[in-house]
Amino acid sequence: MGIRLKVILPYLILTLGVAVFGAYVTITLVAGSQEERLRNQLLEAGRIVSDEFSLQDRQHLERALIVAYTIGLSQALQAGDRLVLEELARPQAEANRLEEIFLIDGQGQEQLHLLRNAQRVLERIDYQTGMGKSPWLTPLLVGSSDLPTRIFGQNPINGRYYHYTALSIVSNGKIAGVVVIGTSLDTILPRLKSTSLADVIFYDGSGRILASTLPGQLENATPESVFSLDQVALEQILQSSEIVYGENKVVFGRGYTIARDVLQIGRERIGIFGVVLPLDFVIEFSQSSRLNYSILFILIAAGVILLGDRISQALIHPLQTLLQASLAVARGDLNQRTQIRSNDEIGKLAQTFDEMTARLQARTAELQKTYAILEQMDRAKASFIEVAAHELRTPLTLVKGYAQMLVLKLKDEPEITALTHGILEGAERMQEIVGSMLDVSRIDSNILKIMPEDTHLSVVIGRACNTFKDALQERNLTLSIQGVDGLPLIQADPDQLYKVFYHLVMNAIKYTPDGGRINIYGHLVETDDGLTQVEIVVSDTGIGIDPEHHQLIFEKFYQTGEVYTHSSGKTKFKGGGPGLGLAIARGIIEAHRGKIWVESPGHDEINYPGSKFFVRLPLKVEGDEPNTTPVE
Ligand code: ADP
Repeated sequence: MGIRLKVILPYLILTLGVAVFGAYVTITLVAGSQEERLRNQLLEAGRIVSDEFSLQDRQHLERALIVAYTIGLSQALQAGDRLVLEELARPQAEANRLEEIFLIDGQGQEQLHLLRNAQRVLERIDYQTGMGKSPWLTPLLVGSSDLPTRIFGQNPINGRYYHYTALSIVSNGKIAGVVVIGTSLDTILPRLKSTSLADVIFYDGSGRILASTLPGQLENATPESVFSLDQVALEQILQSSEIVYGENKVVFGRGYTIARDVLQIGRERIGIFGVVLPLDFVIEFSQSSRLNYSILFILIAAGVILLGDRISQALIHPLQTLLQASLAVARGDLNQRTQIRSNDEIGKLAQTFDEMTARLQARTAELQKTYAILEQMDRAKASFIEVAAHELRTPLTLVKGYAQMLVLKLKDEPEITALTHGILEGAERMQEIVGSMLDVSRIDSNILKIMPEDTHLSVVIGRACNTFKDALQERNLTLSIQGVDGLPLIQADPDQLYKVFYHLVMNAIKYTPDGGRINIYGHLVETDDGLTQVEIVVSDTGIGIDPEHHQLIFEKFYQTGEVYTHSSGKTKFKGGGPGLGLAIARGIIEAHRGKIWVESPGHDEINYPGSKFFVRLPLKVEGDEPNTTPVE
């Protein structure tokens, strides 16, 4: 996971979590408050209906009073003078836009009955409808009550339900009759609806629907009607002192909520009313608010995430630049700089990185300069070796030639012969050193060529060991050779390999004290690349080599210890040497595409830990075509 993802992921999860939670809480609160509003509106509508109906009844009462106290009306009623009655009552009814008025005499006879017909004309009904005999009027007619009374009753003419208010007409302390004022519920209810802003239903005392402002098919959605009252609900309403609400109905897929209460004037219960509000209002609102809030929170969350992304980018971009720069520096491009200039921690880190790179660049340049100087010096040394070796070769040959001649000429003079042999030995040693110098200069100039042929390593090693037969004997050293005879033939230059083992065996002799052991062991090995190679190990019981010199001794002229402590003879213990043997050995082995290295626990001239020189050679020299130029 990249650092950017590590930064942005928790932020993203947190933001989404907060957004979802926030949206949920807000939507719930909004929906809750909408429900609360709906309930309040319902209760308010109920209160308005109740108040408005009382007002309506008071109007009835006022109109009834005016009629009852119209001069001459009670006498006309007692006298049964219908003409006078109409003359007195009609103007009142017209002026007050009454829908229906009855004037009933003390015997329950309807002396005047005016009813507003469909054309809104106040028509006189001339036959008895039975209103005068209605039981609810009896207390007024018999004088057992002088209080006004009201009822929801069915109009005997048009069959519609009316709100009737009745008041007794008294003349000289006697009941002259009753005035009844009626208004159709179909007139009252729309008015109540427009003031309460809810649909209104009126029920009679037994819970039967009398009228409602609801659309007809809604009212009759089921045979019993959706909003009809069952006995339990009726009881609940009648017994409750407050409006009863909380009942929801679904009609034709639309939800409604209803609240019901008793309709009463003073203590008189006339019926029951219901106020109805559609639930769509809340559902739609909460749906639309849910959508709106969801969109709002999605937008806010997207904005916050975008902002977070920008912030993380601003943080991570310098880190990425720093990473790129450090990768480039690791690849060796020291010209790279981050160029980040800010005062924060990343800026300081980048600045430190730039300074480090600049310092590294300066050091590298210095080292390169020093390296070039050393290379130049090495080249000068190599050319000096080459020139010196070439220049020494001719006079040495002369010295050796003349010494050999002297030996021949003065063979009868043993004293001089002995001296001449000394000259000859010294010249040969010098020739050997010059030969080594030439080998090293060929290796340095890359002109050491090998002439590969089928080579028996046992023969080459045997030849090299044979050279030191006398020295081994003289120094009382034991030499053993193992496993070499069984090695396969390899493609190699036997003369060059001879030099390798010559130097290795000579070193083993030189650095092993008298009486020590030298062992040469050969075997086949498998390399990491799966190739089979021969490995020769030359080990001794000598002074050993400290690990810090293990690589350096293969450099030309590199010698451990103090040179002046070396003894002079080349096979004497710690005998002197020019420090070229291992450099030559390495040059030859590498020309064969092989490897040479040393293993030794360290230098110790008391315990003599010994050294092991490993030589690995491929069975066949692969790679460049070997040069056939013979090496002298
Ligand atoms: P030299 O002419 O001094 O022998 P070499 O190149 O052959 O030069 O060896 C380099 C140095 O490696 C020697 O001076 C010696 O210190 C160390 N060395 C080489 N072979 C051995 C060995 N078998 N045991 C201990 N030291 C050795």
